[in-house]
Amino acid sequence: MRKAFKYRLYPNQTTRKQLSFVLARCRELYNAALSERKDAYQLHQRTMVQVHPETGTAVAATMSANLRVRKVNYYEQKRDLVEIKQMREEYQQIASHVLQDVLLRLSRAFDAFFRRVTNGETPGFPRFQGRNRYDSFTYPDGAGWKLTVEEQGKKLKGTLYLTHIGESTITLHRPIEGKINTVTIKREVDEWYVIFSCEVAAPEKLPISSEEVGIDLGVTHLATLSNGEMIEHPRYYRKAKKTLEKRQQALSRKKKGSHRRERARQLIGKAHRKIARQRRDFHHKQSRKLVERYQMIVFEDIRMANLTRRPKPKQDETTGQYLPNGAAAKGGLNTSMLDAGWGAFVGMCICKAAWAGRTLVKVNPQFTSQMCSGCGQVRKKDLSERWHSCECGTELDRDVNAAINILARGKQVLARKEPTRATA
Ligand SMILES: [Zn+2]
Repeated sequence: MRKAFKYRLYPNQTTRKQLSFVLARCRELYNAALSERKDAYQLHQRTMVQVHPETGTAVAATMSANLRVRKVNYYEQKRDLVEIKQMREEYQQIASHVLQDVLLRLSRAFDAFFRRVTNGETPGFPRFQGRNRYDSFTYPDGAGWKLTVEEQGKKLKGTLYLTHIGESTITLHRPIEGKINTVTIKREVDEWYVIFSCEVAAPEKLPISSEEVGIDLGVTHLATLSNGEMIEHPRYYRKAKKTLEKRQQALSRKKKGSHRRERARQLIGKAHRKIARQRRDFHHKQSRKLVERYQMIVFEDIRMANLTRRPKPKQDETTGQYLPNGAAAKGGLNTSMLDAGWGAFVGMCICKAAWAGRTLVKVNPQFTSQMCSGCGQVRKKDLSERWHSCECGTELDRDVNAAINILARGKQVLARKEPTRATA
């Protein structure tokens, strides 16, 4: 099983400079390789669609014969690295495997792009990476780095040596387990981190629990459980969000390209980092609690839920253009912020459940808040209606009602999938 360990790096001045240098070269390589692929792709597209005006036959064959459209893929680009290294001496000092990993990342981005195209979606073409976007590089194996760890009193102190870059100290707030597979160096605004991805032995499974739970994810509460318990959004979250908004406003007042603007942008990055960190800690804690307590956890499928939750954009009746719609825009923004949170939270639950031998099910969220958990009757409810009250006598909080429906749906799904287990 894979497990990641992330620590803050404390590089000295020289190492810090080198880290930035390598990261910049990796980004440069990524963008250059992307550009090459983009050209090849466009050329290919052009050759695909053109048809001879008189004969009606495709010109593609002639064109590709003339232009010799080169098939650009990971292996092609990897082969070119040797040449790049010969031409550009600044690349000579960078570990080959690190550069290969850059190309592999690009390759994965393209694979994902083509997969989505094949699925009939319209994904965005892989993007060029700006300085603030491309923030990490990876050693995919044991070459190019070395880690030593020593005990200092109660603390574990590590030193990470990177060939041609330098050394950094690490304080290991928790020990690394298992065998290290890959090492990723990541920049977060003005701080550096290292992430060790390790192969670890599967843990002891938790004792079987008799409790089951359905979970409704929401805006008012992070989660509402089918037994009526709630997980609130952390209080500090709102405060951090306010800071972020203030800083974003400050940024918009700064002149483009100015030093002040750059500083304001850094402050925003820091605010984002703080929110992300707090949220991650909180989600880890809550997901651990859920997995420890419940044998089966049922969530609604968030991707499906998004389709139903987002306010529909308003369209102009005559022109068909989309109108600026305050509520829709705001709703979209809010949900997109929460979405990120929900996805990560569910992801952590899935991961921990797999470790602990728990069952996690995702169900279609349709009508879960409209349907009565007592009698099954569906009745349209406004988003503002917080209470579920039914003729059958069921009186419940709206979200608890939904959570009960989610649990019931999860049980149905499991019963269909594993009839033997359901009766056991
Ligand atoms: Zn009812």
